[in-house]
Amino acid sequence: MKRNVYADHAATTALSDTALNAMLPYFQEKFGNPSSLYGFGQAAKADLDAARAEVAVCLGAKPDEIFFTSGGTEADNWALRGVAEARGGKGRHIITSTIEHHAILHTLRYLEKYEGFQVTYLGVDSEGFVNPADVKAAIRPDTILISIMSANNEIGTIEPVTEIGAIAREAGVLFHTDAVQAVGHIPVNVDRWNVDLLSLSGHKFHGPRGVGVLYVRKPLRLPPLIHGGGQEKGRRSGTENVAGAVGLAAALKEAAAHLDGEGARLSALRDRLMDGLLSAVPRCKITGPRENRLPGTASLVFECVEGESILLRLDAMGIQSSSGSACSSASLDPSHVLLGIGLPHEIAHGSVRLSLGRENTGEDVDYMLKVIPEVIAGLRAMSPIWED
Ligand code: PLP
Repeated sequence: MKRNVYADHAATTALSDTALNAMLPYFQEKFGNPSSLYGFGQAAKADLDAARAEVAVCLGAKPDEIFFTSGGTEADNWALRGVAEARGGKGRHIITSTIEHHAILHTLRYLEKYEGFQVTYLGVDSEGFVNPADVKAAIRPDTILISIMSANNEIGTIEPVTEIGAIAREAGVLFHTDAVQAVGHIPVNVDRWNVDLLSLSGHKFHGPRGVGVLYVRKPLRLPPLIHGGGQEKGRRSGTENVAGAVGLAAALKEAAAHLDGEGARLSALRDRLMDGLLSAVPRCKITGPRENRLPGTASLVFECVEGESILLRLDAMGIQSSSGSACSSASLDPSHVLLGIGLPHEIAHGSVRLSLGRENTGEDVDYMLKVIPEVIAGLRAMSPIWED
């Protein structure tokens, strides 16, 4: 029997009931503008600040280190461009990895092209790990920032952020982490991780889309990316998205309360899915590591099939997944992440990511284990290059 299985939680998640109910009053009864001086506006400001405080607790930060943004992309842009502007007089070298999200990579390309920065792109090993020793070796007297993601969005690798943060701190270099895939899924603490800046996004943990956070460790002050009316203490202008901030905070609090149990449940489902596929499908392989992997993220490559074809066939069978080889920028090249871990083009083209989340059950995994091997076998039967 056909079943609907949403297995693309790394792309986005459904708003939780808790987040929705927390947000609803702010669309009608409590619609005040937090910048208005009368009581109705100030009540909205108080609720916005309560949301800020809740986010701070979840990250081990202080409330005045939390700035709401329009999402993970803006938080990433602001972190990089803000540090470039604030510290560009001290040095113009930045260190990152080759497998970062495009919100990081394209911003850094911009800084290289238009602002005269030099960027070192560190390679990763075959499981996607950045080696902290490579970070240390890349630091130069003019290095002002290291930006390494907490967890990879395609292959789920959890980077050694604590070690990299310690290296950055010892060298007196600022450390930013794109924690968009990590927050709400694994324990995150800005002090334990030694981070100065951290980006997160509401819609990856059952909060609303279009709202995120940049954590900025005090006393660091970043110049604004968005100029205007001086909201968020003059650092991020624009009438505040109170509903969004309240929803993000409620979703984060909810996710944090279930982190351990849900992490263990999803890890078990993920492993059963990956192991089941490995044994049912010849010539396929896991991408990313076994250990230090995001709980919900299963990712594999299947030889002699195209990721997009798999994705479309799975969609027809009710399974929503994603392919790392998606030609998102109208390019037919496989993703930079899969190439970054050293996969040859022809193998990387057959990639599929199945990212599990809150609604997924053991029956979903059973269904995927039945359907996916059939889909792969069907596609291979049509492939001129497949030989049994
Ligand atoms: N960084 C990572 C690692 C992501 O996975 C994403 C979203 O997929 C982003 C940044 C961008 O976040 P947003 O969708 O909130 O702009």
